[in-house]
Amino acid sequence: MNIERFRVEPSASVDLAEIPTLWRPSSLDDLADEDARRQLRKRVAKRTNELDSLQERLHAEGRHRVLVVLQAIDTGGKDGTIRNVFGPLDAQGVRVASFKVPTEPERAHDYLWRVHAQAPGSGEITVFNRSHYEDVLVVRVHELVEERRWKRRYRHIRDFERLLCDEGTTIVKFFLHISADEQARRLQDRLDSPDKRWKFALGDLEERKRWNDYRAAFEDMLRETSTRRAPWYVVPADDKAARDLIVSEVLVRTLRRLNPQFPEPEDALPTTIDAATPIDGTADAQIPQPSSPLIAPSRNEPTRSNPVP
Ligand code: ADP
Repeated sequence: MNIERFRVEPSASVDLAEIPTLWRPSSLDDLADEDARRQLRKRVAKRTNELDSLQERLHAEGRHRVLVVLQAIDTGGKDGTIRNVFGPLDAQGVRVASFKVPTEPERAHDYLWRVHAQAPGSGEITVFNRSHYEDVLVVRVHELVEERRWKRRYRHIRDFERLLCDEGTTIVKFFLHISADEQARRLQDRLDSPDKRWKFALGDLEERKRWNDYRAAFEDMLRETSTRRAPWYVVPADDKAARDLIVSEVLVRTLRRLNPQFPEPEDALPTTIDAATPIDGTADAQIPQPSSPLIAPSRNEPTRSNPVP
């Protein structure tokens, strides 16, 4: 898969109306919709399997830090992406940080304060579900600060991300790109499904009215802040399986490049545990050997090393 086609070149102008919201690998062109979807899900599963083993090594090695930023218009699929791409990974070493309306203490600080505190540590992959980019998106669209102020933030953000990169963090950013029609379908689905209605907020309709303002804000964000070391990918996201495939493919390639390795074992490790650690008062020969039946004594049953129940 050519993932470069989804990457935004630094300083490139982006016209989201020109970028498709629906994409399928051309190899699936001849398949019926259901079959194509099944194939896509299989491919996603393959990627998440590989991601899982890369992440295991990344965590064991404890050297690299990986920051994944997810931004989208409402209903764009951030939660689904997190569930499908990161859900299958080991919870140890992957963390999701969600950014909501800033709390009182957060508002009392500069806008990057709460963000920096959530940046990944060594061996960790952190997913930002919304991020510091809200401070040039919702803040701009709702005029929460004056224009002069949010405009300066592009520079702050570039510098902030550069700082993270210089200090050893790898950053990859995804904008999940859906069409206005697809948003209408998803909002309608939320209204219609009892298990999704809780997600529906009247505010979502107000936000939808500002579709064009958000679009302009996303376009400027992409142009101003896609850099060589912290690139944005615009992911066609109307089709959820295709979206997951693109995101997982970019991540696999990013982690492969880091090439994490299990740490070297200590020198002179013993080959068997029993011989190396005779338990107090127990001769080696008395410790059951692997050929003994592998049935553990019940909790209260006396054993040689624990004679009294
Ligand atoms: P989500 O939509 O991500 O599932 P919520 O429904 O809780 O989660 O929405 C979080 C809200 O917080 C969004 O409306 C978002 O615009 C808002 N938000 C996030 N960061 C900021 C910020 N810095 N300033 C103002 N609002 C923010």
